[in-house]
Parts: sequence; structure tokens; C-alpha cells
Amino acid sequence: MKREEIVMLCTNDLGGQTRGKGFPLCDLEDRLKKGIGWTPTNSMITSHGPIAPSPWGPFGDLVLIPEPASRIRVDFGPDAAAEHFILGDIMQLDGTPWAVCPRSFLKRVLAEIEIRHGLKVKAAFEHEFVYEAVEERPNSSYALDAFRRQGLFAESYLGAMKEAGLAIDTFMPEYGPKQYEVTVGPAIGVAAADQAVAVREIARAVAHNLGGRASFTPILRPDAVGNGVHVHFSLIDAATGEPVNYDASHSDGISARAGSFVGGILANLPAITAMTAAATVSYLRLTPNRWSAAYNNLGYRDREAGVRICPVFQKSEIARQFHFEFRAADAAGSPYLVLGAILAAGLQGLDASLPIPQVCEGAPQNLPEQRLRELNIVRLPQSLTEALDLFEADKVLENTIGAELKAAYLAHKRFEAKMMEELPLEEQCVRYAKSY
Ligand code: GLU
Ligand code: MG
Repeated sequence: MKREEIVMLCTNDLGGQTRGKGFPLCDLEDRLKKGIGWTPTNSMITSHGPIAPSPWGPFGDLVLIPEPASRIRVDFGPDAAAEHFILGDIMQLDGTPWAVCPRSFLKRVLAEIEIRHGLKVKAAFEHEFVYEAVEERPNSSYALDAFRRQGLFAESYLGAMKEAGLAIDTFMPEYGPKQYEVTVGPAIGVAAADQAVAVREIARAVAHNLGGRASFTPILRPDAVGNGVHVHFSLIDAATGEPVNYDASHSDGISARAGSFVGGILANLPAITAMTAAATVSYLRLTPNRWSAAYNNLGYRDREAGVRICPVFQKSEIARQFHFEFRAADAAGSPYLVLGAILAAGLQGLDASLPIPQVCEGAPQNLPEQRLRELNIVRLPQSLTEALDLFEADKVLENTIGAELKAAYLAHKRFEAKMMEELPLEEQCVRYAKSY
């Protein structure tokens, strides 16, 4: 039988799902120029299937325009289809970006940071996930045996990512049941989020080809530890390419510009969890003692801080290593929205020249109220609905996010929250594990 390879041209949508349309590989050159048709209401398809009330209904036409640099191709041999996809921007028919496109939103925030402050952003996404094919056994955390029991998955996954051009950093068995973690090297700008989509999709493709499943759900069960997505980020001077995060004269090594940026992220963190922790079950994860993040605090090497100052490994070239990690994210959020929301918050801090935030000494839940007030530390929202309320009320971020994207996101997620919150938590976890 003759086979024709198919390329999927995709967007990663408001629900963090990669959706798109396919075309024959022989048409690639033509499709790179003209893209493929897309529909506004697709943005309202929730991760559980039903469509949230759509402002567009059956009306409207858009076009998905591919970004050639994001193309991923992994060969699964003669007995399986190749994994071949390209990510793109959703555009209006006149060629301008569609206001609700997550990837275009991230590009817009990156451009504003560069135009107004002469800075570019370098970022890397660290992913935790569950490989469902392994048997759950106690005492598997970081265990060589837990690594061994995933069989051919890890080698195939890393091989596939290498073939796709991703720079692999580490792979490990993590603390939780059936939980593994993968990290890839950083990239500048929108490419970092493109990579995050690829990391998730290649894991799913490899697991599928081995007859298993990889799930990036925020949390497997209410009593488990979560699957975090930790976003490592740093600022670089757009003109020189040099990092600008470190200042040896500051007590915690933070430069004034990085301090303003991180200050903006901390100030807006409760509101942006609506985008960074986008599932109802995300809020089971964002609780104390789960090594995720429960407060909008800045921590020095603290694995429960909202934003963590990461360690540097040699004393030389500290400025090249010094960076921050945002811990209140998971893979229910589109990497474009997660990074876009973090950067929109950081941009607000830069615009307002916020002072360098103070590091929180110890766990916030153990600090007196008075001290939390002095440090501007608050508990993060404890449900998706609470996060959406804060997100809706935030008029400053709205300037960067845009009214149309904000309204579409709220309509989509409020519908999802209502649908899920009628179910017991255990059942919500089951639904999210299947959808991600
Ligand atoms: N599993 C934790 C989370 O939900 C992170 C553990 C770690 O520090 O790697 O974020
Ligand atoms: Mg981890």
C-alpha cells in the first residue's frame, strides 16, 4: 500500500491542547506560505470535549500560519506513522494576528519588553509527568529501579527529542507515583514555548508508539504530589546578548532590572495563576508541603517558593548562570499563555520600576501575619474560580493581555470550572489525567 506522509499544522490553544489540521507532505512548501483555514470557535473547545459558549458561534474565518522553525519530525520506523507537526500563529485573513491567538499574545509581550526595555527573555520549561505504563510501587522516588521499569520509554523519548532538534538536559524518576521529569535547554523568546509544546507532544507520541500513555495532568490524585511545570527564566540585553540578572553588590545578587521584573511577577502572581494553573485540580497541587508553590513569595533556593532564585554551580561566571524559576505553573496551561502571563506581569514591574523584592526567609505558612504583610506575601488562590475572579478584576494586566483574549479565556475557563466543580475531586483528577 502506498502511504503519503501527513504534516499537522497546529496551535496550542486556550486549554493547552495542541490542535490543528493536516496536509500531505508534498504540499509543505505551499502551506508554509498560505497556511490552513481555522475557525474562531475552536478556541472554545474545552479540554474535556464540550464547547464553552462562543461569542463567534459558527461565524468567522481565520488562518493558521506556520512558523517553519517550530517544525518537528520524528521517524517511528516503517510500521508506524511519522510524528510530523508545525506550530503556527492564528491570523486574520488580512494577515494581522488574531487577538485570541496564544502564540501571538506571547510574541506581543516579548516585543513590548524589547521595545520598552531593550530586553529579551531566555526561558526553559522543566516538565513533570506520569508514564502510566509503569506499575506503581512504593519507594520509587528517584530510584534506579523506577528508571529501569519505564523500559524503552526514556531512551526512545530522548532519541525522538534529539531527532527533533531539542537539546536534552536531564531525565529522571521523580518523587510521585509513576512520575518522571524531563528538562531541555533554554531558548530565547517564543522558541522556548514552542519547545515546551514539543516536549509534551513527543512524550505522548513515544508513549503511544510503545502502547502506553504519558499524562501531563497537574495532579494524578488528590493525595499525590503534583506534576509541576517549572519555568526557568532570565533577562538578556537585546543589544549585546549579555545577561542582566546578576548584581554582585546586592545582598541576594539581584540586579535592579531583574528585581523590578520579578517584583511584577510576584505582585501579579495571584491573578496570573488563572493562566499558569489552569485546571480545577491545579489548586490541589498549589498547597503547602507539596514542593510546588502556595504563596507569591521569592525564595532563595527554596523549592516551595512562587519564584525561586536558582543555585549557581561554580563561582566563576555567576552572571551567566544566575536566573529565576517560576514554580506555580503546570501543563494544563498552554506554554504560550503561561510564559506570556509571567512576562506580562514582569513587564508591569519593569514599567513601574518596582524595587527589588525581599527574599522570604522560611516557609510563609510559618511566618506571622505581620511579617507576611511587610513582604507583600499572600496565599495563592485556592480554586480555579478564585483565580479567574482575580484575573478578571486585574485591569493592569488587561492592557497587555488585551480585552478580547481576556474575555475569551474567562468564558472558556469559567465554563470548564463549572463543568468540573460539579464532580468529586477524584473524578476531576481522572478527567484531567485523560485530557492531558
Ligand atoms: N512535584 C513538584 C511540583 O509539583 C516539584 C518537585 C521538584 O522540586 O522538582 O512542582
Ligand atoms: Mg521535579
